[in-house]
Amino acid sequence: MRSLSRQWHVARETIGFVPTMGALHAGHVALLEAARQKCQRVVLSIFVNPTQFGPKEDLGKYPRTFEADQRHAETAGVDAIFFPTPEEMYPAGFETYVEVGKTASGLCGAKRPGHFRGVATVVLKLLHVVDPDIAFFGQKDYQQLQVIRRMGHDFDLHTEIVGVPIVRDQDGLALSSRNVFLSPAGRQAAGHIPQALFAAEKAFTAGEREPERLLALAEQVLAIAPELKVDYLALCAADSLVPITSPIAGPAVMLLAAFVDSTRLIDNIQLIP
Ligand code: AMP
Repeated sequence: MRSLSRQWHVARETIGFVPTMGALHAGHVALLEAARQKCQRVVLSIFVNPTQFGPKEDLGKYPRTFEADQRHAETAGVDAIFFPTPEEMYPAGFETYVEVGKTASGLCGAKRPGHFRGVATVVLKLLHVVDPDIAFFGQKDYQQLQVIRRMGHDFDLHTEIVGVPIVRDQDGLALSSRNVFLSPAGRQAAGHIPQALFAAEKAFTAGEREPERLLALAEQVLAIAPELKVDYLALCAADSLVPITSPIAGPAVMLLAAFVDSTRLIDNIQLIP
């Protein structure tokens, strides 16, 4: 991967990079298309990163669909797929990790201890190997995007970090590799996740600025589906992810994580005055 990347740099071709854990869907394809538009070469990585999963999480059962992923990649005009093994990424003796900070401490960071340490570490390693001009991340994993942006600034990375809007299903549910785990009833209940956020967005657009009222509107929608077990619902400043307690005056984001059966889904909506 490194020698390929070097060749492209020598030829003065720009490299766009889309890191994923595979099980590709239209959300990933949107990232690949964004890369295709902005860069001459596109690299996709597929790596189910063990260090970002907690001991009781779904690392073992995370969907792996390499052949279908290859077909998606080909259609999207990907130049190279980088798919290292866990042993290549974390050989015996591996012990150095990125220490993430405040951006990573709340929300998913609080609910999944060590998650963003694992994410930041693997992304830093991937960026070093692929050495892209631009790396593309989905806004679906909003906190992840902010943690990576922060790391980019803090570690003086030359790669530009670009966020790509959330791709949703017809009922609004954000596409996710984990949606395959949902039962038909669970899938229907999951539709209330985006609807809760859209209800808050609608009120926001109509002028509502009180965090508590916006959160209450989302909660009302979530209450319709008792199958959803809310992990967190929060309204935060869009860049720092510090919770907002006074009327919204700058860019904000409402973030939601909920379990449907044992599947944990996340979503968010940006509220920009
Ligand atoms: P994953 O393989 O699920 O870890 O995701 C790889 C990349 O795809 C991350 O940057 C995600 O934010 C992005 N992604 C996943 N689902 C979506 C979606 N529905 N819309 C946009 N980006 C997404």
